[in-house]
Amino acid sequence: MRRLVLLGGGHAHVHVLKTMGDALDPTVSVTLVTPVARQVYSGMLPGWVAGHYALDDCAIDLLALAARARARVVQSSASLVSPSMREVICANGEVLGYDVLSIDVGSQPAVGDAKGVAEHAIAVRPLERFVQGWEGVLARARDGGLNAVSIVGGGAAGLELAFAMDHRFRAEAGDAAPHVRVLTDARSVVPEYPAAARGRLLREARRRNVGTHPGCAVTEVGPGHLRLRDAIEFSTDATFWVTGAAAPPLLRDSGFATDPRGFLDVNDFMQSVSHPEVFGAGDCATNAANPRPKAGVFAVRAGPPLVANLLAALKGGPLATFIPSPRFLALVSCGGRRAVGIYGAASFEGGWAWRWKDRIDRGFVARYSAAALAGGR
Ligand SMILES: Cc1cc2nc3c(=O)[nH]c(=O)nc-3n(C[C@H](O)[C@H](O)[C@H](O)COP(=O)(O)OP(=O)(O)OC[C@H]3O[C@@H](n4cnc5c(N)ncnc54)[C@H](O)[C@@H]3O)c2cc1C
Repeated sequence: MRRLVLLGGGHAHVHVLKTMGDALDPTVSVTLVTPVARQVYSGMLPGWVAGHYALDDCAIDLLALAARARARVVQSSASLVSPSMREVICANGEVLGYDVLSIDVGSQPAVGDAKGVAEHAIAVRPLERFVQGWEGVLARARDGGLNAVSIVGGGAAGLELAFAMDHRFRAEAGDAAPHVRVLTDARSVVPEYPAAARGRLLREARRRNVGTHPGCAVTEVGPGHLRLRDAIEFSTDATFWVTGAAAPPLLRDSGFATDPRGFLDVNDFMQSVSHPEVFGAGDCATNAANPRPKAGVFAVRAGPPLVANLLAALKGGPLATFIPSPRFLALVSCGGRRAVGIYGAASFEGGWAWRWKDRIDRGFVARYSAAALAGGR
């Protein structure tokens, strides 16, 4: 029996589990290590915050997927991998041997040297903690107890969450809705987007009176304030930390070859360049020869070639390359049922763009729902 261990129930691994469940292979034993029983789909998180979805609409049941694939689940986090022993050490003390290891553990918001983030800010990841944190802030807003809410991080996710929060606060707290602001240390919000797309999102921010504060490096979060590098302070009743992707320390700590930022260094086969029996997909891995943004769309695209390569590595077969097109569609929801879309240099917006996003996102989750799994057998 060959042993496959999957770390994390990220976008690529849900597809691996689905495929392994579609065609059970008695020669392979699969173990999934996951701290969560269900994977909340980040693309729908702003829609949940805005009140368009129930959390169940946005969640993929990892335990059901694993059960169908006859995979053992270790409900814990991987703390360390010993590549020389081919073992994973889990936070609950379990040690798992593997022949092939696949890592899809995502990323975490970059904190850098900012102080007080763990104590006083609600980080967007882990998503389950964000979910709890947002529910608490929303309850305070309903009681009229908030004046200002700050989001640190001016990428697409930060802006999308700011619009969603503003939408929900206005719907539930009316005139008592707190002011929402976005701070970023970059020269502008969404600097990676073309100017026209950025203009559309900035217009949306102005329309909503969501503050955007570029050039603001937050160095400290306190119970009621944010301090910037130039000593200016903002008073804030709640702070969300939605900065860009940083690598989970596990990868470097385990001795894998990593890129300078600590992400798993993989080749065109999604294979660790230092340990060929280890594969990585999604945010946690970087292919230096063909780098792509840390976006869910690439983790989703990695699913089919990843499962093919894992099976090839387990059984001895040729590996397929995974070099996704760098062009991808980004749809940024604007709180209400409108979205701004970006594809290359083109951008557009409207209710139809939101409905398009809604269809794509619901379609992704539905692919792994109980109904789809039952039908797939
Ligand atoms: C609000 C928001 C909206 C977004 N919207 C979009 C969008 O519309 N389109 C897009 O392309 N991108 C979007 N992104 C980015 C997207 O979320 C990430 O790029 C994507 O989640 C990466 O997928 P992944 O499979 O690498 O990891 P994840 O989806 O983060 O999954 C990783 C899994 O691994 C688990 N895990 C973590 N550590 C361990 C460990 N040590 N051991 C075991 N398991 C572990 C986690 O619990 C999690 O279940 C958004 C991000 C946010 C925050």
